[in-house]
Amino acid sequence: MTKPPKNQVRVRMAPSPTGSMHIGTARVALFNWLFARQNGGVFVLRIEDTDKERSEKKYEDEILEGLAWLGLDWDEGLGIEYGNKNTEDNHEEKGKKNQPDSKFQVLNTQYFGQYGPYRQSERTAIYKKYLEQLIAQGDAYYCYCTKEDLEAERQELAARGLPPKYNGHCRRLKEPPAGKNPEVIRFKVPEIKIEFKDMIRGNVVFDAALFGDIVIAKDTATPLYNFAVVADDAAMAITHVIRGEEHISNTPKQILMQRALGFPEPIYAHLPLILNADKSKMSKRFGDVALLRYREKGYLPEALLNFIALLGWHPKGDREIFSKDELIKEFDIARVQKSGAVFNQEKLDWINREYLKKTDAGAIADMLAPLLAEEGVRPERQFLEKIIAVVRGRAATIRDIADTGRFFFALPDYEGTLLIWNDADAGDVKAVLEETAWKLAEVPDGAFSREPLTRYIAEITGARKRGAVLWPLRVALSGLAASPDPIEIMEVLGKDESLRRIGIAVRKLEK
Ligand code: GLU
Repeated sequence: MTKPPKNQVRVRMAPSPTGSMHIGTARVALFNWLFARQNGGVFVLRIEDTDKERSEKKYEDEILEGLAWLGLDWDEGLGIEYGNKNTEDNHEEKGKKNQPDSKFQVLNTQYFGQYGPYRQSERTAIYKKYLEQLIAQGDAYYCYCTKEDLEAERQELAARGLPPKYNGHCRRLKEPPAGKNPEVIRFKVPEIKIEFKDMIRGNVVFDAALFGDIVIAKDTATPLYNFAVVADDAAMAITHVIRGEEHISNTPKQILMQRALGFPEPIYAHLPLILNADKSKMSKRFGDVALLRYREKGYLPEALLNFIALLGWHPKGDREIFSKDELIKEFDIARVQKSGAVFNQEKLDWINREYLKKTDAGAIADMLAPLLAEEGVRPERQFLEKIIAVVRGRAATIRDIADTGRFFFALPDYEGTLLIWNDADAGDVKAVLEETAWKLAEVPDGAFSREPLTRYIAEITGARKRGAVLWPLRVALSGLAASPDPIEIMEVLGKDESLRRIGIAVRKLEK
């Protein structure tokens, strides 16, 4: 097996498609991607779908969609052939993988003895080979202990106040027990200390004597996570494993198997947990940690990516806004903290506002249109861009723009009492609105814009307090207690619609 170019950084993201893509998975993707890009390395995507019951195609699709939304491209993995990054469609491309002249097949066969896409369920032959090797070497063995045996053992240990640990019964068998089928394959864990250097945590030591012989496969065709990862990281020549802290106790087990198989040991980096504001662990079970929910909620992918980069990583200065290219330059895995990273919603909103400010109305309209279409609203592009200009300043997200701009499309139903400013008399408010309507009706059609409207409103106001005119007018136009300035609203709605809405308000006050 020929090796990939010497000193080439090769990292991977290895998600299990067993649930919605989590913000934490997106961070693993981003940190690996940044590390690959800043080192001229290769970013591999490997779908870890060995758990057949829990893995689902829809979650795999969600991972691909999430990565595409964030703009994190992978160099090898699902649908992308080695050395051929321009593959358009992952799934279509899959059908072509057996073409003998494929550049990928040639290169990848040369390097890794097989070819993509990297989906563990399609790589069982590799696992089988190494499982058989471990058994033949005497580093792994078939275990015949049943669930009941193990449960009895666990209870016995618990009664003595000890943690569960397999007693090694089948390790000592000379012959397979008659009439029994193997239950699982176990790896012989030596009772030694395992030390590794973590790029974030420094030296980490585990006492393998606490593990007992671990289960690594159900049978040679059905490997479990810890083993499949070892075989794949070696087959894919992974040099750096950057993953979540929840995997740190797997690392010593994986290192032991690497040693038994003569595989090189990658360099590790375990990213801190992501915590809620109350410091509790953010769990996959909460819908709000699903990456694509942030698209639905109207966050910009660049803003979310920027926010995710700061989940545990501290740039050198005070700066917090970084484009993707700037992140490639500035990101430093050694500056990632060890302690949990708190997910700060206000910070995300602030970052999103910063990006929204820089986004042009056309791009906002592109993101807003599908959100409105969900509600059956399909405005003309020009009208939509005018609305965006008025409401974007107060919005944290695209969804906020949709929410604050909704009244432009349809006047909400509101109580007539909302039109009354302070303790004004309803009759007076009605008179003000009627006067406003007459005056505005005089404005020539083409002049329904800020400057003349400001003048007309000033005339109506005259000796009155401004609020006495502006409050009922604003409510009449928007149907809301809080909305943009009435002149801005009128500019967008135009003369006819503005007058129609004022007419509705007057009628509400007649009741
Ligand atoms: N498949 C594992 C997960 O989804 C990740 C494995 C790894 O990075 O080693 O959490």
